[in-house]
Amino acid sequence: MSTILAFAEARDGELRNVSFETIAAAKQINEDAQVVGVVLSDQKTEALADEMIHHGADRALVVEHADLKEYTSDAYTQAAMAVINEENPAGIVMGHTSAGKDLSPRLASKLDSGLVSDITGIEGSGDDTEFVRPIYSGKAFEKKKLTDGVTFVTVRPNNIAPLEKDTSRSGEVSSLDVDIKDLRTVIQEVIRKASEGVDLSEANIIVAGGRGVKSEEGFEPLYELADELGAAVGASRGACDAGYCDYSLQIGQTGKVVTPDLYIAVGISGAIQHLAGMSNSKVIVAINKDAEANIFNVADYGIVGDLFDVIPKLTEEIKAL
Ligand code: FAD
Repeated sequence: MSTILAFAEARDGELRNVSFETIAAAKQINEDAQVVGVVLSDQKTEALADEMIHHGADRALVVEHADLKEYTSDAYTQAAMAVINEENPAGIVMGHTSAGKDLSPRLASKLDSGLVSDITGIEGSGDDTEFVRPIYSGKAFEKKKLTDGVTFVTVRPNNIAPLEKDTSRSGEVSSLDVDIKDLRTVIQEVIRKASEGVDLSEANIIVAGGRGVKSEEGFEPLYELADELGAAVGASRGACDAGYCDYSLQIGQTGKVVTPDLYIAVGISGAIQHLAGMSNSKVIVAINKDAEANIFNVADYGIVGDLFDVIPKLTEEIKAL
């Protein structure tokens, strides 16, 4: 039976959602294959392995090592290659995250395999599997097929639905000892931005503000709405450049690419560079006082009005539900 490795992504001892999406993608690629959840971390790997199995992995393989506390290219490449050599997989799936974007091409070059990155869908299965990925900043899609070697893909977060969690599922968990050495980079310290609440790249709902929000204080009503919705707050580059919020919130061509179920664009004109980061959201709501704003061309629902009137009313209505 062939094996597909689904790489988990752990942060502070917790798995990110994209980990479960890699399992679902692996199952779609070949439902007859054995899907092995791979956990590389410095802690709690057994518990994380169980999580992978509860989300559909047939078994799990863990590598626990102090050098896997934070992502570094050298340490993770060595650990992942040790797993790949051990398992000799037919397929590899990882998240198209900051770590996945760095790690996957390194592994592909070592394996001399192809790589289809940033997939948002899978069609067919087995040898006929085609991978759908956005191109030209999301204005078109292409379908790609891997014709030789390991089927290696990275999945864009929030596009492939994870399987239902089932805590009664069980599977073998094995661990692999890895000798990690000759690290050319080590992380001295991680300085986290004091970001509150939901992680932008994994959020199901995003409330994003633009230059129309006019000030840092102007973002307060957006945070209130986001709190009510369990949403993350994002921003256009216009808002970041103006100093209303941190660049870590920027969405677009030179910011984060997001695909939430619901994207609420507030005071954002809809420049092409912004659309590149959010136009694949499932439902887009635009709030803008200019009825001609380009954002309305991609919106499913539009409200023409002053955001400072609309947002508090919307928040009140949602509170009342
Ligand atoms: P504006 O274009 O100024 O729009 C503000 C909007 O707010 C207007 O539509 C206005 O009608 C509305 N408004 C004003 N007041 C109110 C109110 N009271 N109520 C309701 N609506 C109101 N941009 C990104 O976002 N992300 C990127 O990653 C990115 N990368 C770029 C890369 C390059 C190489 C370049 C050249 C540009 C990039 N940009 C990016 C910038 C982009 O071109 C736009 O300048 C930017 O997106 C504009 O931000 P905005 O929509 O917030 O501001």
